[in-house]
Amino acid sequence: MEVFDSSLSLVKCLSNKPRPLGMVPTMGALHPGHFSLIEKAMEENQTVLISIFINPTQFNDQNDFENYPFQIDSDLEKIKKYGNKTFVYVPKAFDIYGDRVQSKSFDLNGLDVMMEGEKRAGHFQGVATVVSYFLEIFRPNHAYFGEKDFQQLRIIDHITQSMGLKTKIIGCPIVRESDGLAMSSRNSLLTSEERKLAVKLFEGLQFAKSHAKKVPYRALKEMVAAWFDNYDDLALDYFQITDPKTLKEISFDEPLTKGRGFIAAHLGKIRLIDNLDMS
Ligand code: AMP
Repeated sequence: MEVFDSSLSLVKCLSNKPRPLGMVPTMGALHPGHFSLIEKAMEENQTVLISIFINPTQFNDQNDFENYPFQIDSDLEKIKKYGNKTFVYVPKAFDIYGDRVQSKSFDLNGLDVMMEGEKRAGHFQGVATVVSYFLEIFRPNHAYFGEKDFQQLRIIDHITQSMGLKTKIIGCPIVRESDGLAMSSRNSLLTSEERKLAVKLFEGLQFAKSHAKKVPYRALKEMVAAWFDNYDDLALDYFQITDPKTLKEISFDEPLTKGRGFIAAHLGKIRLIDNLDMS
């Protein structure tokens, strides 16, 4: 494993490493969800690049940015076991943005107007800025993203195609704790009481799935909202079912035939998201 903080020296180093090159962008505080991406990249590539960068432009909430867990030493220790075909990029913001830490402006084809895009202004422009930087400068053959951030995965797929980048975007299934909670770096910020309640996001999605084919979607949304009303310390931000390709919400008047359920909720200061195939 070799660690770089400069993209230029990393590009130079990678230029004589065997391809295919697989890239796994992360914000660190690595957990088994991240390792599932890294392990898939290890299987499918001769060289693997992992980035650890808490990208300031994708945070709409300064508090969330400042409190985001940063544990670079233990992350690097965990990556070591993947051996010498692994390279780690741990830049400072200057290496990517220079003096202007600002998002570029992308046409995201309407994929950013709902859910996380609606609730977190500018979030996906920030994600698109940093990911397009990675893909343009390192030119990986494959890049791995989790379905945990399903809307992000769709948006990255879109910008890769619209920018004519050659990288193949590979989506990977959500890794969950034994009770079903989707693994997330933010889970480590939960109190033990909040941690117990956090599983309700997944249970709410399963509750929705078990009723989705029986009642019109309009009624289902009300049932899910009422179900969450049982938990005072958990504030539902949104629940919706969308077409997994367009991310447009499904018809209100019909029971579901196919779709993906998305959920976001606040537990104290922490906001969590999850999603589940409803078909
Ligand atoms: P993050 O460090 O949260 O930005 O995540 C880096 C990558 O890991 C993203 O592509 C995430 O979707 C993915 N990821 C995070 N948590 C999980 C999980 N529980 N299962 C699968 N992928 C995940």
